[in-house]
Amino acid sequence: MENKASSPSKGLLQSEELYQYVLEKSVFPREAEFLKELREVTAAHPRATMATAPDAGQMIAMLLSLVGAKRTIEIGVFTGYSLLLTALSIPDDGKIIAVDLNRQAYEMGLPVIKKAGMDHKIDFMESAALPVLEKLLESETNERSFDFAYVDADKVNYWNYHERLMKLLRPGGIVCYDNTLWGGTVAMPEESVPEWMEAGKKWTIEFNERIAADSRVQICLAPLGDGITICRRIK
Ligand code: SAH
Ligand code: CA
Repeated sequence: MENKASSPSKGLLQSEELYQYVLEKSVFPREAEFLKELREVTAAHPRATMATAPDAGQMIAMLLSLVGAKRTIEIGVFTGYSLLLTALSIPDDGKIIAVDLNRQAYEMGLPVIKKAGMDHKIDFMESAALPVLEKLLESETNERSFDFAYVDADKVNYWNYHERLMKLLRPGGIVCYDNTLWGGTVAMPEESVPEWMEAGKKWTIEFNERIAADSRVQICLAPLGDGITICRRIK
């Protein structure tokens, strides 16, 4: 049987107006003031669009609550929107290991994170992510000890992160991978894909295929933001 959707497959959000509706009627009324402030601070950054979209953030916060997350890992901090969102969603004695190659953007958001009284939950590491995960795995006590992870950096390594996170997460724990629709290019014909997106498209397609075949996780590719793949460790 052909696996095709029976209705015209344009996605639900067919217009900018509908997206604004979601933001204005669901996301913004509930978004914490400190997160709004962090978005404002981030707007001054030349790469502000890299920040996690607030509607995607709202879903991540929901997932953090559902799993009762206490210990989390964040790969790709930038100015800290998803990081602050996570800190606000976990208990006071919760901990986030946050990794980014570069501390500069984090420093931009840090005053807001401090003002929100959330910095004590954050262990920021200026490093490439893979060595940090490797280091965590050197101690057996870290295995199956994390409740949640958010991966939003360095797409070429997503599968490498996944293999390590499958050991670090407890069964029932969740990892979310951002940008898994790669600007919609995953389903575009070759000639419509801008050159600078080609490599990312290839890595993303490979990752999506591997995840779909991975029986260790339950998956859902939520078409929020640039696509977020939610994976729940089931064994
Ligand atoms: N989650 C962030 C956005 C992250 S943007 C938010 O909500 O705002 C991607 C970030 O990944 C950048 O800050 C970049 O410095 C970082 N990055 C890129 N390659 C990396 C790597 N190999 N290890 C860790 N961080 C990396
Ligand atoms: Ca992203």
